[in-house]
Amino acid sequence: MDIVVEHLTKRYGPQKAVDNVSFRVKAGEVLGFLGPNGAGKTTTMKAIACFIKPEEGDILVGGYSIHEHPEIIKKNIGYLAENNPLYQEMNIIDFLEFIAKIHGIPKYLIPERILDMIRTCGLEGEKHKLIGELSKGYQQRVGLAQALIHDPDILILDEPTTGLDPNQIVEIRELIKRIGKEKTVILSSHILAEVEATCDRILIINNGRIVVDGTAAELRKQAQGNEILKLGVQGGSVDDIFEHLFEIETIDSIDLLDVEKQLFEIQSLPDTSSVKAIFDSCVRNNYYITELTPTETKLEDIFRDLTLH
Ligand code: ATP
Repeated sequence: MDIVVEHLTKRYGPQKAVDNVSFRVKAGEVLGFLGPNGAGKTTTMKAIACFIKPEEGDILVGGYSIHEHPEIIKKNIGYLAENNPLYQEMNIIDFLEFIAKIHGIPKYLIPERILDMIRTCGLEGEKHKLIGELSKGYQQRVGLAQALIHDPDILILDEPTTGLDPNQIVEIRELIKRIGKEKTVILSSHILAEVEATCDRILIINNGRIVVDGTAAELRKQAQGNEILKLGVQGGSVDDIFEHLFEIETIDSIDLLDVEKQLFEIQSLPDTSSVKAIFDSCVRNNYYITELTPTETKLEDIFRDLTLH
């Protein structure tokens, strides 16, 4: 099922938590919703799941509007809320049965669905335990199981790895990836590495507005601009190397990074690459290259630039 968000605006008093946000999620896509605290991620996801009504705009889920058919949309969405509120005193099976009944799953199908969820979410070893006795990672698995029990097409996960230890984070990410092969997933996070590891596409939201929409590779490309190379050259003096490099027409600027190692940072003119010309020049002048690598713009830097007020 596709999700189309059109001009979504939600106010809390005078504050716009979400301000004229539009985007699409294609069926089967795993979308990472990224932004600092208070950016508007939860508000947007709650609006998609029909938990809150926006003042302006519409959301179409599989062609159904949140204003006209919230009941149909709710049937097709599984939601894992931030901090994953669960009934601590229930055991996993009873809890999943309770959730299945709320969803109106026919009674005769419930045991099968529960078994399926226990298998999918890797809960076999813990299934008779009380939820309150489980580790945070396993509680998160129960949260995923309750979000999936009615077999929705779409899964919305609000900060699914918050509060987990590094091993649990890896396990939950793997699980989300596996589930993401069959479902449309929207996952929110304020950690860039998280969405990069799990998602096909990244949407960055800041102050209620979308500031970036693209794949991690597109994001890098967009931010990269001019080619920047790190070059190490030996076999000649720094001055001579400088002079020869400056003869290359595509080079815009050269910085000396390390005198001892003769390391340079070279920036090319827009839409040009200087790699081949540098190589040819070094061969012509009997220098030898100890390093020639493009400098990658870190996604973290892009994210910080985009979301600093
Ligand atoms: P976080 O990562 O901290 O959960 P978020 O990106 O999910 O942040 P939202 O929870 O959507 O952000 O909040 C967006 C803005 O709306 C914030 O400034 C928040 O304080 C405000 N807000 C959210 N819910 C309410 C509410 N029920 N009443 C008043 N203001 C709210």
